[in-house]
Amino acid sequence: MLTILFSAPDALWNQYEEVLPAALSAKRVDGTLVRDADPAAVDYIVYAPNDRLHDFTPFTKARAVLSLFAGVDRIVGNTTLTQPLTRLVDPGLAEGMVEWVTGQVLMHHLHLDRNLGAAPHWVQNAPPLARDRRVTLLGLGELGMACADMLRALHFDLRGWSRSAKDAPFPTSHGTDGLKQALDGAEIVITLLPDTPDTRNILNAESLRWPARGAVVINPGRGPLIDDEALLAALADGRIGHAVLDVFRVEPLPADHPYWAHPRVTVSPHIAAVSRPTSASLVVAENIRRSEASEPLLFLVDRSRGY
Ligand code: NAP
Repeated sequence: MLTILFSAPDALWNQYEEVLPAALSAKRVDGTLVRDADPAAVDYIVYAPNDRLHDFTPFTKARAVLSLFAGVDRIVGNTTLTQPLTRLVDPGLAEGMVEWVTGQVLMHHLHLDRNLGAAPHWVQNAPPLARDRRVTLLGLGELGMACADMLRALHFDLRGWSRSAKDAPFPTSHGTDGLKQALDGAEIVITLLPDTPDTRNILNAESLRWPARGAVVINPGRGPLIDDEALLAALADGRIGHAVLDVFRVEPLPADHPYWAHPRVTVSPHIAAVSRPTSASLVVAENIRRSEASEPLLFLVDRSRGY
């Protein structure tokens, strides 16, 4: 019988304590899910950032650490973690991100809020069709590509950017040299990148000059992707028209942060896409099954890349 340590905040235990054992049984994994155990007896660690576990050294027998989150920026640099680390790629998570991103894009493409609470003032200012709206996706991974499929289905004029070259059905560029090409003239910019030393402040005083004047920035990726001071300056001079921010350097966003009161910033409390316990549990259980069957793990994090 395997000992599987659930090392995550209490709120997640409430969500997973029934569905994860059910997923283990569905995958015919003979294991007990526990909240506490002698570290030397633990076979697998199901993990989300928490206050209790920082040192992985005593887990001498653990064969993998399985993240319940897609982003692993808070654990990937932990030097005590020598076991294989997997991240979450979950159909429920992707579906949620597609809905949130598409909703935000359509909101700003169609100006759906333009007449909310407005005084009587009949101005017919119809938006262009989506095919005439330039949208750029920074990040073409699991979530970026899922959003790209939906935005393409709506006919948006899409561009994409990633670390490595992609064979995609829309124009893409890659690497540091390809960023300007991706952002040039974009009217809506979506950041779905991980937080790594290479992506930090990718939207900065220089790169925020490349989109079209008045562009909308939508960040469901990670807070450090944006240089906050540069964004506030770009908003102040109109280069950026609006920012929709779901993630921040410090979360919860401090009450005195200028984003809260800014009339052209939408603050969203890190809810763009949450892991869905039922589908996420099946992904975790499948990886434990694979490990026990000496099959390759799915969604292994590459420590050298940081994602
Ligand atoms: P992923 O599959 O690992 O994709 C990451 C993408 O970023 C890849 O296309 C990758 O390029 C690109 N990238 C990484 N470093 C780069 C660099 N230096 N230059 C250019 N492109 C770079 O990740 P995912 O599952 O799509 O998730 C993306 C991020 O979304 C996560 O890391 C997490 O931070 C965030 N997230 C947020 C929420 C939320 O609720 N707000 C929920 C889930 C996830 P390659 O394709 O060439 O590798």
